Amino acid sequence: MRIAVLKERAAGEHRVAATPETVKKFSALGGVLAVEAGAGEGAGVSDEAYREAGAEVGPAEAVVRDADIVLGVQAPDPAALATARKGALVAAGFDPFGNRARVDAYAAAGFEALAMEFMPRITRAQSMDVLSSQSNLAGYKAVIAAANAYGRAFPMMMTAAGTITAARVFVMGVGVAGLQAIATAKRLGAQVSATDVRSATKEQIQSLGAKPVFVEEVAGIEGEGSGGYATEMSEEYQKAQAELVSSHIAKQDIVITTALIPGRAAPRLVTDGQIATMKPGSVIFDLAVAHGGNVEGSAPDEVVERHGVKIIGYSNTAAHLAADASALFARNLYNFLSAFWDAEQGRPVLDEEIGDAVRLTRGGQVVSERLKG
Ligand code: NAD
Repeated sequence: MRIAVLKERAAGEHRVAATPETVKKFSALGGVLAVEAGAGEGAGVSDEAYREAGAEVGPAEAVVRDADIVLGVQAPDPAALATARKGALVAAGFDPFGNRARVDAYAAAGFEALAMEFMPRITRAQSMDVLSSQSNLAGYKAVIAAANAYGRAFPMMMTAAGTITAARVFVMGVGVAGLQAIATAKRLGAQVSATDVRSATKEQIQSLGAKPVFVEEVAGIEGEGSGGYATEMSEEYQKAQAELVSSHIAKQDIVITTALIPGRAAPRLVTDGQIATMKPGSVIFDLAVAHGGNVEGSAPDEVVERHGVKIIGYSNTAAHLAADASALFARNLYNFLSAFWDAEQGRPVLDEEIGDAVRLTRGGQVVSERLKG
């Protein structure tokens, strides 16, 4: 079983889909790993380290030739895989809703595309879930980047020259990234509050020592759809939320927004009018900027200044922590494929529950129900 790993081609993508650790583990299953020279550069992994772990290292063409499996952080252009085996498995991030053209190209090329983003949110798939592993790091990085751009300290400091008050941090959207953002801001000594549409997050916020800020007056709101994801909220709810946020946000120094709804543009949570009420020098980090943004005026990879407030957002936040993000992404891929490894056939054979969820294309067709819907 030949497993190919290419250097990521997307701009700003410093992660890599295999590490020496996963090379060794795949080799132990009987895989022959082939890694493109320089693939680990952005994540601090040398070609030598891959070789020592047992991988072949070479140019892209040699790596891809006759590959049965291709691993990617972001799926490569299928044209780059023309010499791989017919029907090869490609396990990677596909951004299936955002890049439909690539999914269609995979179908046309006859590959079996497995989208890591579509991993079902079930207990046994937790160790395979790239959205969680990458969001966790992104939530941490958002706070660190915001703290770096903030002209004041986070913790309260009592000094001989007087007292510095603690920064007020407000986290909007308490999924995996939001929980890590709360924990990181707490560790830095900030006063932290947080909000979400899913009422189940209230307890999680409190358990991290932060203050929940919730819309109470709109009855019958649960906010949770399938798989633990948020649903789009009613107009009435959105109005109540906007009012609550308006009064709270004016008192905040740092706002971290993380709200996403799968398959749709990110919900708008902070308007320009609300930004105008914040103190000059405050910082907003918009983790949803690549999905349309939670914050009015935010732009990917730019520091936008509005009313004296800095608005930051990275198009690929996890890539800013490429070494850790790669280590976790690579383990997610290994945990996924090894869980289904059929020793007799020497290849992964996916079961229905997970296979049908992640499979985008097979036999020349787009087969994903989520994409058909
Ligand atoms: P996400 O990235 O889809 O969204 C981020 C957060 O934004 C969510 O908490 C969501 O409720 C919130 N949000 C959406 N619209 C909002 C709005 N208008 N205002 C405020 N907040 C809004 O979420 P996620 O990080 O993928 O996590 C979703 C849930 O799934 C969490 O409970 C998480 O623990 C769970 N999860 C389970 C598994 C598993 O069991 N394998 C894996 C990952 C996540």
